[in-house]
Amino acid sequence: MNEELELLLQELALAEKVRYCYQCGTCAGGCPVAGAEPSYNPRRMLEALARGEGEAVLAADELWLCTLCHTCLERCPQGVGLSHVFTRLKEIAAARGHLPESLLAELQTLYSAGRVIPLSGPIKRRRAQLGLPAVDQQSGLADLRQIVEATSLGRVLAAARAKGEEKNG
Ligand code: SF4
Ligand code: SF4
Repeated sequence: MNEELELLLQELALAEKVRYCYQCGTCAGGCPVAGAEPSYNPRRMLEALARGEGEAVLAADELWLCTLCHTCLERCPQGVGLSHVFTRLKEIAAARGHLPESLLAELQTLYSAGRVIPLSGPIKRRRAQLGLPAVDQQSGLADLRQIVEATSLGRVLAAARAKGEEKNG
């Protein structure tokens, strides 16, 4: 199935789920992120989707604050499956290039170094002090890159590379 068709089907499935939301606010009331960050409100995001403002939701950095704790999934009286909806939305947003800079940087580091925090000199020294074995930086790197390239992450990286090349002329 091509990527565009896959995304379209995902969006249709999302629309079906979102229709069941009756705006009770149970999700927002139990969400730990909303408790810590008042600007984050899963109910309002569902409301925006229902109003046809999906593009704004996809472009907003708030989408990426969801930690996928699944509290809303368990508590929603309508079985909307909000955390799954947000996962799909993140996939669609990333495929469209709406990935926060910090997450893109982490993905690029993961792809190039095989880990999100590369093994720096101080980390290696600390490991040695603690008696931990040396880590082979190349171990598993080829497998990891293969996984990234076989998933939508590879498309996100390719799009970011193309954007960078375009910017640099
Ligand atoms: S708990 Fe469910 S029905 Fe209530 S606002 Fe959240 S998503 Fe909608
Ligand atoms: S899964 Fe996301 S939206 Fe739902 S309660 Fe957890 S952090 Fe909040």
